[in-house]
Amino acid sequence: MLRYLIRVEGGRSLSLLLLGALAGWLLGSVRLGALFGLTLILFIHLYHAGQLLAWLQAPKKRELPDGVGIWRDIFQLSLDRHKQARKRKKRLGAIVREFRASTTALPDAAVVLDRSGCIVWYNQAAVSLLALRGQPDIGLRINNLLRHPDFHSYFGQSDAQDRGVEIPAPSDSESTLWIRVIPYGDGQRLLIARDVTELKRLEVSRRDFVANASHELRTPLTVLRGYLDMMGEESSEAGQLSSWKNPIEEMRRQSARMQRIIADLLRLANLESGSGFADSTVLDMPALIGAALEEAEHLSGGQHRIESEVDDSLQLQGEQADLHSVVSNLLSNALRYTPPGGRIRLRWQRDGGQALLSVQDTGIGIAARDIPRLTERFYRADVARSRETGGTGLGLAIVKHALERHEAVLTIHSQPGRGSEFICRFPAHRMSDNSRVAVAG
Ligand code: ADP
Repeated sequence: MLRYLIRVEGGRSLSLLLLGALAGWLLGSVRLGALFGLTLILFIHLYHAGQLLAWLQAPKKRELPDGVGIWRDIFQLSLDRHKQARKRKKRLGAIVREFRASTTALPDAAVVLDRSGCIVWYNQAAVSLLALRGQPDIGLRINNLLRHPDFHSYFGQSDAQDRGVEIPAPSDSESTLWIRVIPYGDGQRLLIARDVTELKRLEVSRRDFVANASHELRTPLTVLRGYLDMMGEESSEAGQLSSWKNPIEEMRRQSARMQRIIADLLRLANLESGSGFADSTVLDMPALIGAALEEAEHLSGGQHRIESEVDDSLQLQGEQADLHSVVSNLLSNALRYTPPGGRIRLRWQRDGGQALLSVQDTGIGIAARDIPRLTERFYRADVARSRETGGTGLGLAIVKHALERHEAVLTIHSQPGRGSEFICRFPAHRMSDNSRVAVAG
């Protein structure tokens, strides 16, 4: 740096100093002359600094002079930096314009929230879908604007935000919005809202159709079953129908299966039409599990070893019928897909701040490719065994829906030939101590 300064400034400064001293010598005072030379050097620097300051204050209005010595380089460098910054600004401006144009074209509402849930930015669709009012809503808390209780409970739970929530649109209660909050950066969140009214309408008509069809089929099937039961009794004796014994038995089995399918379809339709999340009644889960274990013992008829590890102090807020479906379906599956002599183990306990229900078996297991599809209606990994053991193909779909209503998550681990484990995790806010328990039975 010193060498550079001497190279660009040394010659001229020394010349001015010597010139001043020479002029001073001619006029009788070398010191005064040198002082004059120094003042001149100082003046040149101050002049250039002033030029730079004036240009920095209004770079668009003024031009930078060429400058001398070190100032030529300083001016050039400042100009280059300024040009680079302008280019960058232009580029960023174009990106922002493109981003704005694409988010305006987006049919979904997008709202950026800061770490305290206040609105920082939103797109055009948010105005119509979420009834935001433009500038006045910037800086307001989102849960002061979206006041639906389901949204409040969803927004308050950091562990549930992956799933999203459905609420009536604030601008039109006939429409339904699906809202999801995605955390990003340093505590910020992006809220996405989509109009799912049409989708909901189709879903409701499909559900109603299935529920009505099942309901309509129930009565004729009950009549058929009644006659078949009578014929069954008749055929077991040495009467007219004795040669029809086997076909009648098969018809009875099949009609019983149809009744089970219809009952499961109705149960599923009920679960799907249930409004939002399940109630928060405190249930005596250990008692509910105890009753399901007794049923399982009865079903197994002593062919399996059924073990349990139940935390008696752990209660859950939810709906009894739903949770009974979950426990009994998982236990019945474990029994049906575990050959005699196998072991079934149920656990109900606290785990990392959540409530965990696990049903583990040493049964036939499930291939990895089937696991993601098991909760689909009528999806069977082992069709023959399912039919043979009276399965409806709807058990796990019921489990999944019942768990969703309790904000719980189902995970399945399995190894073909070694066994399976079905784990349900319930969020902390549904756990209760046993001081406020409703009697389950
Ligand atoms: P199903 O009435 O056929 O048992 P589910 O919905 O209860 O219907 O289960 C779907 C499929 O998942 C079953 O057909 C079976 O192939 C598989 N499955 C469920 N539970 C188990 C288990 N514990 N072990 C092995 N396979 C299972």
